[in-house]
This record gives sequence, C-alpha cells and structure tokens, in this order.
Amino acid sequence: MASLITPAIREALEAVVGPANAFSGADRTFDYGHDEFSLKEIAHAPDLVVRPGTTEEVAAVLRLADANGIPVTPRGGATGLCGGCVPVCGGIVLALERMDRVLEIDADNQMAVTEAGVRLSDFTKAVEEAGLYFPPHPGDESAMMGGLVATNAGGSRAVKYGTIRNYVRGLELVTPAGDVLKLGGKLEKSSTGYNLMHLVVGSEGTLGVVTKVTLHLKAKPGLMRSLVVPFDALDPALETVPLIMKKGIVPLAVEFLEIEPITLTEEHIHKKWPTKLGRTHLLVILDATSEEEIDRLSQAVAEVCCEKGAIDVFIADTPSKQDEVLAIRSKIYDAIKSGTVEILDIAVPRAEVAGHVHFVREVAAKYGMWLPTFGHAADGNVHTHIMKARYEAGRMVPVPESEWRPKTDLVRAELFRDCQARGGVISGEHGIGLVKKPYLSLVLDERQIEIMRGIRRAFDPNGTMNPGKIFD
Ligand SMILES: Cc1cc2nc3c(=O)[nH]c(=O)nc-3n(C[C@H](O)[C@H](O)[C@H](O)COP(=O)(O)OP(=O)(O)OC[C@H]3O[C@@H](n4cnc5c(N)ncnc54)[C@H](O)[C@@H]3O)c2cc1C
Repeated sequence: MASLITPAIREALEAVVGPANAFSGADRTFDYGHDEFSLKEIAHAPDLVVRPGTTEEVAAVLRLADANGIPVTPRGGATGLCGGCVPVCGGIVLALERMDRVLEIDADNQMAVTEAGVRLSDFTKAVEEAGLYFPPHPGDESAMMGGLVATNAGGSRAVKYGTIRNYVRGLELVTPAGDVLKLGGKLEKSSTGYNLMHLVVGSEGTLGVVTKVTLHLKAKPGLMRSLVVPFDALDPALETVPLIMKKGIVPLAVEFLEIEPITLTEEHIHKKWPTKLGRTHLLVILDATSEEEIDRLSQAVAEVCCEKGAIDVFIADTPSKQDEVLAIRSKIYDAIKSGTVEILDIAVPRAEVAGHVHFVREVAAKYGMWLPTFGHAADGNVHTHIMKARYEAGRMVPVPESEWRPKTDLVRAELFRDCQARGGVISGEHGIGLVKKPYLSLVLDERQIEIMRGIRRAFDPNGTMNPGKIFD
C-alpha cells in the first residue's frame, strides 16, 4: 500500500520535530518494526519514525496524522512480548526515547513525575538516590515508563506491592486529535467522575500517547531475604503457596521454577543456584523492617514448606548469595531465549496454578514439545514457554521448524482454553498486542468487547492510534 505520508506531510512533521528526528529508509526503520516477540514474521517497518522531544511536539504530530488518516504506533523500550509496538498498518512509529527526563521526585508527597521515555533502570536509580523506593520490577529494565503504563506491567513483586496500575496517580495523555489531557495528579484519592486515567493504564497505546506519568513511591524497605525451597513434585510446591498466604504472610515474591531452566541459566551466566535437589523449586523473597521480623517470617515460611514435604530450605541471607539467586531468576529468559518461540503469561486464580501447570505437562507430552513453565506463583501468573528446542542432558537442542511450527498455534490455543475454563485471563501482564488478539473473545464476551470498541472510538474516532491491536 502506498504511504499516506506525502512529501508535504513529511515536511510538516520535520518542521515539528526537526529533520534529524523524522526518518525513513529500511536501514534506519528496521529496528523500529519489531519488539521482543521472537517470530520476526510479525515485524513491519514504519513509513516514518518520528521522535518528538516534548508534549507539544507529540500533540502536533498526532494532529497532523489524525487529519490525514495516518496510523500512529507509540513505541517505548520495545521490550513487549506480543507485538504491541509493531506498526502493522505502516504509517508513523512515534518513539518516546527523547522524552527521557525524571522531572520531579517529591519526597513529601512520595510521588515522582517522569516523562514517558525514561527507562525503568534510570527511574529506579533516581528514586533510590532520593532515598525512596519504587517496588514494581518487571523483568526487563530497559522498558520505558510509558510502555509500563500502557501494558500495566507486573513482575515478580506484584504479590506484595501490586502492578504498575497500583502506582499510577496521574497521567498526561495526548489524544489522537492532539488534545492534552491531565488525568489524576499527586492524589491518593479521587471519586470525581469516571476514572479515565485507569482506562489508559493497560490500553496498549490505543487511546492516545502517554507523555508524563505521576507515580506513587514507597519508603525504602529495610531487609530482604530469599528462600530457595526444592520439592520432589509440582503439587506440594504449588499447594504450599496458598498456605503461606493464608498464614497472613505476604512475601515480596513467590516464584515457582523447574530445574531444567535453572540448570541452563547457571551455565549461561556462570553462577550457582543453591541446590539441585528436587524437580520444582519455590523462590520465596521476603522483606521486612527488622532482623527479628525477617527471622520470624523466614521461620514461618520454612515451617509451612516442610509440612508440605519440602526437601530442604536454603536461605540466601548475605547480599552476594541473594544477588546470585536473583541474577539466575532474572536471566532465565536470556538463557533460553534462542530456543523460545513465545512466552505466554496466562493468569489464573492462585489455587488453579497447579492444575493449569499439570495441563501444560499433558499438552507437552501430547505434542512431544518441551514447554518449560515457571512464574509468579502467588499471583497465579504462569509463564509457559513454547519452545523450538528440546532439553537434553543440560543443553538445549534445536528442533526442526517443520516440527515446532505447526504445533505452536495448537499448543497456545489449548492452553488458553484451559485458562478460560479455570476462570483465568490470557494475559496477566504482557498485554494482548497483535499476537493474542485472535484469542481475546475466549475470555471476554462480545458485549464487553463492544463496549471497549465504543471507548476506543470515543478517544480515537478516526482509528489512527495503534490500529490492529487488542481487537479490531
Ligand atoms: C526479558 C523480559 C522480561 C520481561 N518481564 C516482564 C515482567 O516480569 N512483567 C511484565 O509485565 N512484563 C515483562 N516483560 C514485558 C515488557 O517488558 C513489558 O510489557 C513492558 O511494560 C513494555 O514496555 P516498553 O517500554 O518496552 O513498551 P513497548 O514494547 O515499546 O510497547 C508496549 C505497548 O505499549 C505501547 N506504548 C509504549 N509507550 C507508550 C506511550 N508512551 N503511550 C502510549 N502507549 C505506549 C505500545 O504501543 C505497545 O502497545 C518482559 C520482557 C522481556 C523482554
């Protein structure tokens, strides 16, 4: 299809952002045509990449695009895992990378105000330097604040501290027509009309472009301790999780892991996990304000685990042991990335995790595929990896494409149907984007999707904002 960006429109866009910040040509736009979803066939280069530096520039670009029916796809750190920032309809990729300033850390109100293009790593550093704490920690720190808001990102600490939504207090949003909306503010409460701010959280760039974010901050926690608990089997490990929570203990994170990805990651980053015993491990991370409290919590968690048949409880209580454990957990994706087709992020009620993971194992056996599965056990958020490799004696062995390709869609569909049957959702944290769009109606009825379409039309009557994503 011919580009809608005529020489006159391009000239007008260049006048807004400066010629250096509006560019085309396959060699320069290629990198802006994909995210971290592994199958590059979904990639699509934009006609033009535009990199605004201010909210006013974003508004002027959107106004021009809207008036000329040009699709606009917002792009943050491109760490998304479902093709959300891929410009499937061509047009403009609006890259937020120049809007990278942390504008304010307001210690009295425990709030930060940041531009949308600030990376999570830089934001966390700025907050910690101010003596405060921003708990959400999705796995890839190069994600940008606008992208984290647009996907309502989660991560392992959501069990105690919630997802990004729980921290957003204010947003600056530029609508497709170029209006600048100030939603919320440095407020802990608001019962003032419909909450448009929360509609934007998780809207995956379909309602407008987030340019600034106001976030709630917490006081720095005192101490952190990680417990690695091996079990011989899946069921007792996962049944332990609701029991820990029922005791009134809310860990910072409760992850479940399988031994194979741990082994591959040890090899990959040359670090050691505390034990190789058992098949399924729980990683329980606790935080507390005093030694007494963290000892008490560790003891209580260890007791519940042992009652459920844990083989042992390994405590990482020094910074170096702790770093080693956390490094392995956070680098699993890197270690198995070359063999991964897709990471699912199904969320089910906490007590359904074991049943769902058993189903994953049945599906793995049925299709003869390796489907390593781990995730945020206490959140009910399960990351099954659809693989194009099998695991053999501590190594990943590639599987021919003719074998894995036809099975991928079948496996994904079976797991999504199981999630639906358990009252779950097909995405707990990554979003729907492009790749999960065909399955949305499995978990949302037609009337809900119709209401969502109406909301989208109210923000974007001309359909120029990130078309082709979430639903058509
Ligand atoms: C190794 C790895 C680990 C990960 N771990 C986690 C995890 O633990 N938890 C988790 O939730 N996710 C995780 N992710 C997924 C990813 O990091 C998140 O989805 C993240 O929120 C995406 O942010 P981004 O800036 O990279 O957004 P992008 O990928 O650039 O975009 C994502 C979506 O947001 C939209 N968007 C981006 N910026 C804006 C904006 N300013 N205004 C409006 N819309 C915008 C895009 O159009 C797109 O639809 C992981 C990814 C990787 C690669």
